[in-house]
Amino acid sequence: MKKWECTVCGYIHEGEEPPDECPVCSADKSMFVEVVEEAAPGESTTGQTAESKPAPMVQPSFLLKAYTLASEQIVKHHLHPIMVHTPNGILPMALVFLLITAFFGLPLFETAAFYSLVFVLISMPLVLFTGYEVWQKRYRGTMTSIFKVKIAASIVTVILLFTLIIWRVVQPDITTTASNGRWVFLFLSFVLVGAVGGAGHMGGKLVFGNRKN
Ligand SMILES: [Zn+2]
Repeated sequence: MKKWECTVCGYIHEGEEPPDECPVCSADKSMFVEVVEEAAPGESTTGQTAESKPAPMVQPSFLLKAYTLASEQIVKHHLHPIMVHTPNGILPMALVFLLITAFFGLPLFETAAFYSLVFVLISMPLVLFTGYEVWQKRYRGTMTSIFKVKIAASIVTVILLFTLIIWRVVQPDITTTASNGRWVFLFLSFVLVGAVGGAGHMGGKLVFGNRKN
Protein backbone atom coordinates (compact mmCIF):
# COMPACT_ATOMS: atom_id res chain seq x y z
CA MET A 1 0.00 0.00 0.00
CA LYS A 2 1.38 3.38 -1.00
CA LYS A 3 1.31 6.39 1.30
CA TRP A 4 0.63 9.91 0.12
CA GLU A 5 1.25 13.07 2.12
CA CYS A 6 -0.69 16.30 1.65
CA THR A 7 2.01 18.97 1.28
CA VAL A 8 -0.37 21.63 2.59
CA CYS A 9 -1.44 20.14 5.94
CA GLY A 10 0.53 16.89 6.34
CA TYR A 11 -2.47 14.53 6.13
CA ILE A 12 -1.37 10.97 5.26
CA HIS A 13 -3.53 8.97 2.82
CA GLU A 14 -3.01 5.25 2.23
CA GLY A 15 -3.87 3.83 -1.18
CA GLU A 16 -2.62 3.28 -4.70
CA GLU A 17 -3.62 6.79 -5.72
CA PRO A 18 -3.76 10.07 -3.76
CA PRO A 19 -7.34 11.20 -2.95
CA ASP A 20 -9.02 13.70 -5.28
CA GLU A 21 -9.28 16.14 -2.41
CA CYS A 22 -7.58 16.25 1.01
CA PRO A 23 -10.25 15.46 3.65
CA VAL A 24 -8.55 17.82 6.12
CA CYS A 25 -7.63 20.97 4.18
CA SER A 26 -9.39 20.32 0.83
CA ALA A 27 -6.19 20.67 -1.20
CA ASP A 28 -6.49 18.89 -4.55
CA LYS A 29 -4.74 15.73 -5.77
CA SER A 30 -1.76 17.60 -7.21
CA MET A 31 -0.73 18.71 -3.71
CA PHE A 32 -0.03 15.12 -2.60
CA VAL A 33 3.44 13.55 -2.78
CA GLU A 34 4.22 9.90 -2.28
CA VAL A 35 5.88 9.05 1.03
CA VAL A 36 8.96 6.92 0.43
CA GLU A 37 9.21 4.64 3.50
CA GLU A 38 12.73 3.23 3.11
CA ALA A 39 14.60 6.42 2.39
CA ALA A 40 18.38 6.42 2.50
CA PRO A 41 19.86 8.65 5.25
CA GLY A 42 19.83 12.28 4.25
CA GLU A 43 17.20 11.79 1.58
CA SER A 44 13.87 13.50 1.73
CA THR A 45 11.21 11.10 3.07
CA THR A 46 8.39 12.82 1.25
CA GLY A 47 9.82 12.42 -2.22
CA GLN A 48 9.99 16.19 -2.54
CA THR A 49 13.13 17.73 -3.86
CA ALA A 50 14.65 20.04 -1.30
CA GLU A 51 14.43 23.64 -2.41
CA SER A 52 17.67 25.44 -1.92
CA LYS A 53 17.11 29.12 -1.47
CA PRO A 54 19.84 31.46 -2.65
CA ALA A 55 21.41 33.48 0.15
CA PRO A 56 20.07 37.04 0.30
CA MET A 57 22.42 39.48 -1.34
CA VAL A 58 21.41 42.48 0.74
CA GLN A 59 21.33 42.82 4.52
CA PRO A 60 17.71 42.56 5.69
CA SER A 61 16.42 45.77 7.26
CA PHE A 62 15.63 46.00 10.96
CA LEU A 63 11.89 45.93 10.20
CA LEU A 64 12.22 42.81 8.09
CA LYS A 65 14.27 41.08 10.81
CA ALA A 66 11.68 42.04 13.45
CA TYR A 67 8.86 40.77 11.23
CA THR A 68 10.67 37.48 10.54
CA LEU A 69 11.32 36.96 14.25
CA ALA A 70 7.69 37.78 15.18
CA SER A 71 6.43 35.47 12.45
CA GLU A 72 8.60 32.56 13.68
CA GLN A 73 7.48 33.04 17.28
CA ILE A 74 3.79 33.20 16.27
CA VAL A 75 3.99 29.81 14.57
CA LYS A 76 6.35 28.20 17.12
CA HIS A 77 4.30 29.21 20.18
CA HIS A 78 0.86 28.63 18.62
CA LEU A 79 -0.22 32.25 19.13
CA HIS A 80 -3.15 31.97 16.70
CA PRO A 81 -5.01 29.22 18.62
CA ILE A 82 -4.30 31.22 21.80
CA MET A 83 -5.61 34.47 20.28
CA VAL A 84 -8.79 32.92 18.84
CA HIS A 85 -9.97 32.25 22.38
CA THR A 86 -10.75 35.97 22.59
CA PRO A 87 -13.55 36.02 19.96
CA ASN A 88 -14.55 32.38 20.49
CA GLY A 89 -14.69 32.72 24.27
CA ILE A 90 -16.07 36.23 24.70
CA LEU A 91 -18.63 36.52 21.87
CA PRO A 92 -20.90 33.63 23.00
CA MET A 93 -20.90 35.23 26.48
CA ALA A 94 -21.77 38.64 24.96
CA LEU A 95 -24.67 37.03 23.05
CA VAL A 96 -26.03 35.40 26.23
CA PHE A 97 -25.72 38.74 28.06
CA LEU A 98 -27.66 40.48 25.26
CA LEU A 99 -30.39 37.81 25.47
CA ILE A 100 -30.55 38.29 29.27
CA THR A 101 -30.90 42.04 28.65
CA ALA A 102 -33.68 41.53 26.10
CA PHE A 103 -35.68 38.97 28.10
CA PHE A 104 -35.09 40.09 31.69
CA GLY A 105 -34.36 43.78 31.22
CA LEU A 106 -31.07 43.83 33.14
CA PRO A 107 -29.09 46.79 31.70
CA LEU A 108 -25.82 45.88 33.46
CA PHE A 109 -25.58 42.81 31.23
CA GLU A 110 -26.04 45.04 28.18
CA THR A 111 -23.12 47.24 29.28
CA ALA A 112 -20.94 44.16 29.81
CA ALA A 113 -21.91 42.83 26.35
CA PHE A 114 -21.06 46.17 24.70
CA TYR A 115 -17.58 46.36 26.24
CA SER A 116 -17.04 42.69 25.35
CA LEU A 117 -17.72 43.51 21.68
CA VAL A 118 -15.29 46.45 21.87
CA PHE A 119 -12.62 44.27 23.48
CA VAL A 120 -12.98 41.58 20.81
CA LEU A 121 -12.76 44.19 18.02
CA ILE A 122 -9.51 45.53 19.56
CA SER A 123 -8.11 41.98 19.66
CA MET A 124 -9.02 41.23 16.03
CA PRO A 125 -5.84 42.63 14.39
CA LEU A 126 -3.77 40.12 16.41
CA VAL A 127 -6.22 37.28 15.72
CA LEU A 128 -6.09 37.97 11.97
CA PHE A 129 -2.34 38.64 11.81
CA THR A 130 -1.43 35.44 13.70
CA GLY A 131 -3.87 33.49 11.52
CA TYR A 132 -2.36 34.93 8.34
CA GLU A 133 1.17 34.04 9.48
CA VAL A 134 0.24 30.42 10.31
CA TRP A 135 -1.53 30.10 6.95
CA GLN A 136 1.54 31.41 5.10
CA LYS A 137 4.15 29.44 7.08
CA ARG A 138 2.48 26.15 7.94
CA TYR A 139 0.09 25.84 4.99
CA ARG A 140 2.24 27.79 2.48
CA GLY A 141 -0.60 30.23 1.82
CA THR A 142 -2.45 27.63 -0.26
CA MET A 143 -5.92 28.94 -1.15
CA THR A 144 -8.04 25.82 -0.70
CA SER A 145 -11.75 26.03 0.11
CA ILE A 146 -11.21 25.65 3.87
CA PHE A 147 -8.96 28.75 3.92
CA LYS A 148 -11.38 30.67 1.67
CA VAL A 149 -14.20 29.97 4.15
CA LYS A 150 -11.99 30.91 7.11
CA ILE A 151 -11.02 34.21 5.45
CA ALA A 152 -14.68 34.93 4.60
CA ALA A 153 -15.67 34.19 8.22
CA SER A 154 -13.03 36.64 9.49
CA ILE A 155 -14.27 39.37 7.15
CA VAL A 156 -17.88 38.77 8.27
CA THR A 157 -16.71 38.87 11.91
CA VAL A 158 -14.95 42.23 11.55
CA ILE A 159 -17.85 43.79 9.58
CA LEU A 160 -20.42 42.58 12.16
CA LEU A 161 -18.30 43.78 15.11
CA PHE A 162 -18.06 47.26 13.54
CA THR A 163 -21.77 47.27 12.67
CA LEU A 164 -22.94 46.23 16.15
CA ILE A 165 -20.58 48.60 18.00
CA ILE A 166 -21.45 51.62 15.82
CA TRP A 167 -25.18 50.78 16.06
CA ARG A 168 -24.96 50.55 19.86
CA VAL A 169 -23.05 53.88 20.07
CA VAL A 170 -25.62 55.65 17.86
CA GLN A 171 -28.60 53.99 19.60
CA PRO A 172 -27.53 53.09 23.19
CA ASP A 173 -30.96 51.63 24.13
CA ILE A 174 -31.11 49.25 21.12
CA THR A 175 -31.32 46.08 23.26
CA THR A 176 -32.82 47.53 26.44
CA THR A 177 -36.06 48.76 24.82
CA ALA A 178 -38.51 46.68 22.79
CA SER A 179 -38.32 47.34 19.04
CA ASN A 180 -37.90 45.43 15.78
CA GLY A 181 -34.35 46.77 15.63
CA ARG A 182 -33.56 44.90 18.83
CA TRP A 183 -34.27 41.54 17.19
CA VAL A 184 -32.17 42.47 14.17
CA PHE A 185 -29.35 43.42 16.56
CA LEU A 186 -29.68 40.09 18.39
CA PHE A 187 -29.85 38.20 15.11
CA LEU A 188 -26.62 39.85 13.88
CA SER A 189 -24.98 38.97 17.22
CA PHE A 190 -26.08 35.36 16.67
CA VAL A 191 -24.58 35.38 13.14
CA LEU A 192 -21.36 36.81 14.62
CA VAL A 193 -21.09 33.90 17.08
CA GLY A 194 -21.78 31.51 14.18
CA ALA A 195 -19.00 33.08 12.08
CA VAL A 196 -16.33 32.78 14.80
CA GLY A 197 -17.60 29.32 15.77
CA GLY A 198 -17.40 28.17 12.14
CA ALA A 199 -13.88 29.57 11.70
CA GLY A 200 -12.85 27.89 14.96
CA HIS A 201 -14.36 24.58 13.90
CA MET A 202 -12.38 24.62 10.65
CA GLY A 203 -9.22 25.61 12.50
CA GLY A 204 -9.72 22.61 14.77
CA LYS A 205 -10.20 20.40 11.73
CA LEU A 206 -6.92 21.64 10.24
CA VAL A 207 -5.02 21.05 13.48
CA PHE A 208 -6.63 17.80 14.64
CA GLY A 209 -7.86 16.46 11.28
CA ASN A 210 -5.23 13.71 11.15
CA ARG A 211 -6.41 12.13 14.37
CA LYS A 212 -8.66 9.14 14.25
CA ASN A 213 -10.33 10.02 17.57
ZN1 LIG B 1 -4.37 18.55 3.36
